[in-house]
Amino acid sequence: MAAVQRTIEPFPPALLAAMTILLSTLNARYAHASLGLRYLYANMGALQEQTHIQEFVIGAKTTDLLERLLSWQRADEKLIIGFGVYIWNVEETTRLVALIKRVAPEIIIVLGGPEVSYETQEQAIVGMADYVITGWGDVSFPALCQQILHGPKPLMKIHAGVQAPLDQLRLPYEYYSDQDIKHRTLYVEASRGCPFKCEFCLSALDKTAWPFDIDRFLEEMESLHARGARLFKFVDRTFNLNIKTSLKIMQFFLDKLAANPDDPVFAHFEVVPDHLPDALKEGIQKFPAGTLQFEIGIQSFNPEVQTRISRKQNNSKAAENIVWLMQHSQAHLHVDLIAGLPGETVESFAQGFNQLHALGPHEIQFGILKRLRGTPIIRHTEDFGMRFDPYPPYTILANKDVPFAAMQRLIRFARYWDLIANSGRFTHTLPIILGTQAFENFMDLSDWIYAQTDATHKIALDRLANLVTKWLCSERGMDLQTVQTMIGKDYAGDAKHKQSPEVLAQMHVKPDNKSNKPNSEGNTSNLGNTATGKLPKRQARHLVN
Ligand code: SF4
Repeated sequence: MAAVQRTIEPFPPALLAAMTILLSTLNARYAHASLGLRYLYANMGALQEQTHIQEFVIGAKTTDLLERLLSWQRADEKLIIGFGVYIWNVEETTRLVALIKRVAPEIIIVLGGPEVSYETQEQAIVGMADYVITGWGDVSFPALCQQILHGPKPLMKIHAGVQAPLDQLRLPYEYYSDQDIKHRTLYVEASRGCPFKCEFCLSALDKTAWPFDIDRFLEEMESLHARGARLFKFVDRTFNLNIKTSLKIMQFFLDKLAANPDDPVFAHFEVVPDHLPDALKEGIQKFPAGTLQFEIGIQSFNPEVQTRISRKQNNSKAAENIVWLMQHSQAHLHVDLIAGLPGETVESFAQGFNQLHALGPHEIQFGILKRLRGTPIIRHTEDFGMRFDPYPPYTILANKDVPFAAMQRLIRFARYWDLIANSGRFTHTLPIILGTQAFENFMDLSDWIYAQTDATHKIALDRLANLVTKWLCSERGMDLQTVQTMIGKDYAGDAKHKQSPEVLAQMHVKPDNKSNKPNSEGNTSNLGNTATGKLPKRQARHLVN
């Protein structure tokens, strides 16, 4: 495998060619290995030998990144840096490009990625860059580099990326290093694009989905598995679009699970909720607990809102399928809702939230609408008074139906929901908090916690447990001992906090060591021969409790 350079590796070796090309991006976390950079690298052709990957993680000091990038520069050689620009890194990448252009203006900067694929005119980062490739870069980036190297000098700054047929692309999976396989989430894709047209989503612009050759794709998955890969995250926008292909992919994982029950694989797929034919259900049922996760987009249960944003969804079929999955499969369900859509009031959102909660998914991802560059949602700006933050991630601040203060309450709800419900840290206590009116009760708790703390971040788990205890006692009139016992059980399910949490000491509650013995990775499981011990911790907590 060619050398894949990263921040943790030593400074680069002596370079052989007259031009060095760096493929760089700032990932949201170290655990996220960039699939986009590896695609570009795989398709560099004759230029691959002089191309290197240099990944960073957001939050680092910009001058440190600059120093690292400049260390690739050689006298009398051109250095091209291609940056992948996304909503989570555009601000930091803008700063980085500004510093590069101050210190070493001769470095050629090429931008690509969704954040610079639309509305390029108004972006500061585009103003500073030498070239921008909008849309797909797999073939256009190497072609642009060839032009820069051999001439004639490209005349245009903005280049519309050529969308090559997928069978002409080299697949990138061999460029996941052994370290990536060991320590990072591996993103894979069996198809690109989406045939649906939800107006808040960038994939709405695709108008269709293009599949990769499934046998070729599975061969690559086979190699990754043979090299030790066990966590596969599919970025396909709709995994269950083509059932024949979905079944083939599921069978691949089922075969691996059958052959290696003690060393299971874990697969994550995004699915549309109203399309689950029997053949697919049969396959899903065969997965043991802890090996399959579905991300399901509901976004809104409000038919008027769905029509307004061009989202086609059969709500009753979707609800039926979520219930079926909860009752008849062991898949972990993470279901998405979005607040702030045009025409969605707090009341109608609350109704949808309660409806979804009643279906019982493991996690509800409570998202707040963002105005992604290029998405058609802007057509409602005037009619619905949509006010978006002009800075990334362009979150909605207010609209005609949800004023700013109400939107802030929803944003805090989303944050506390993640900490208390989705985290799986309060599984015994949560049903008591939510009662029969999940949204309304949790909103009360959310308002109360904010009034007490003035904070939505940096709330340690022990403090959160104390706050929940106080709210249940003072605002809901519960008996302290009952609450303490319940919260103690939640702590007992968490190995990290089992030994000495302040709250347990105060409450004189003994952790239940027997049923929640942590495995070597610090996870807990009482599911016998299921695979939860290997799972990401959040999923494991939901499945254990
Ligand atoms: S939200 Fe999902 S279904 Fe709708 S366009 Fe985007 S990817 Fe497709």
